[in-house]
Amino acid sequence: MRSIDTIYINGSFVRPHGTESAPLFNPATEEQIGIVHLGDELDVDNAVRAAKTAFPTMSQSSKAERIAMLQSLHDAVAARTADLTDAMREEYGAPASFIGFSVPHAAGAFLNMAKTLETYEFRRRIGHAEVEMRPAGVAAAITPWNSNYGFICSKLATAIAAGTTMVIKPSEMSAIQTQLITECLHAAGLPNGVFNIVNGYGHVVGAALSSHRDIAKISFTGSTVTGRAILQAASATLKRVTLELGGKSPNIILDDAELDTVIPQVLAAGFANSGQACIAGTRILAPESRLAEIHDRLIQAVATLKVGDARDPAVRIGPMVSQKQWDRVQSYIRLGQEEGARLVGGGEGRPEGLDRGWFVRPTIFSGVNNDMRIAREEIFGPVLCVIPYRDEAHALEIANDTVYGLQAYVFSSDVARAKRIAEQIDAGRVVINGAPHEPQAPFGGFKQSGMGREFGVFGLESFLEPRAVLS
Ligand code: NAD
Repeated sequence: MRSIDTIYINGSFVRPHGTESAPLFNPATEEQIGIVHLGDELDVDNAVRAAKTAFPTMSQSSKAERIAMLQSLHDAVAARTADLTDAMREEYGAPASFIGFSVPHAAGAFLNMAKTLETYEFRRRIGHAEVEMRPAGVAAAITPWNSNYGFICSKLATAIAAGTTMVIKPSEMSAIQTQLITECLHAAGLPNGVFNIVNGYGHVVGAALSSHRDIAKISFTGSTVTGRAILQAASATLKRVTLELGGKSPNIILDDAELDTVIPQVLAAGFANSGQACIAGTRILAPESRLAEIHDRLIQAVATLKVGDARDPAVRIGPMVSQKQWDRVQSYIRLGQEEGARLVGGGEGRPEGLDRGWFVRPTIFSGVNNDMRIAREEIFGPVLCVIPYRDEAHALEIANDTVYGLQAYVFSSDVARAKRIAEQIDAGRVVINGAPHEPQAPFGGFKQSGMGREFGVFGLESFLEPRAVLS
């Protein structure tokens, strides 16, 4: 059993002052695989002091120096791809499809930011004003378990490109991945204090960072409930806050869609990371004219999805991250039936043959009304709702009838038509016909899916403060 008993402050692995610890589990076996010793408010103070001390030099660094740092960080993370892959499987049973995207994406975040930086102008003239984009001050990052080290990389990459320093509070549930990524980042040889990593509970370390007087900017990814708490805590000192929160993404099949290719893509979007993804397309909007056909295809396709231990490359659906998450998903499957939706695939309980591990049967509800709680609340598991619509206007009405607005999916044989629909969806990103991720494009949510944007110039500017000098 692993014992993670250090945090990372001012370029060194040190023991936390905090005395609490948390168990770490393999969700595919329910076995405890480790323990992490957690930091407290004093550790936060020490980490912030280190970041504050490193800030003046970092903020004066040249573009070339920052690009070199980003390149070193990329190389150090890419060198441990195999170990990071193993840790992701072991710590939260991520299936191959998710690992295949997120592991290269994590290392790639440093190169993507270097690319953004190459052409970015920190100084521009506007009339008789000289405008300079200054680093916003010492930053904090708070990450969720479902892409913990990916977000550590993308947030740190953005901070470095902006010329600021950072204190990172990773998810306490992902300490094995955090330990590995910290070793990688340390190997890149950045100046002491540029980044600091403090494991800890959200209500202790996360809360201390969110209200810390010397933190100027917070980049948070996690649930909407926590996002609100952070925004409130940050308001006393008016920190710059970027929030990447939850979603209930519409997955719209237009009536001209070619179902042979579209159904696997609809399910890939819906069951992304076993449904434990903010961008999961969990509301499948199906035209009434083709409802029966779409139902049949979904039911057949879901029946072929392999559930199990993600070490098997054929597995498409891994376990839920924790017993708590398993219980939560089960309660939503019960709720859907109580609300009158029709269960057409999956259902309560464990999948056949899987007596251990927090596995859920991939579940599809049909006859769902968009007012039902299963259509409105983020379940964070492999549970999809099929919602029928009459025509395009009705589809758009349903798609936008949500408090969320992170991502949406549109499938059609006519790309121009899909684009016309996309332009009317209130979401930060709309993906047409399974188009791949674009790392320079903005990512973030409308409405209660968040505030601000990450990635590319949009992410970079969220760490910068413009100053205009008029002469
Ligand atoms: P969470 O909100 O429970 O925790 C996220 C982080 O916040 C953790 O590090 C946690 O310790 C910390 N935290 C908890 N309470 C805090 C507090 N009071 N103050 C400061 N920090 C606190 O979320 P989770 O369960 O780890 O992750 C799943 C959620 O994240 C889902 O809602 C999902 O949609 C969302 N998510 C969003 C995106 C996105 O980019 N929009 C990406 C991934 C996940």
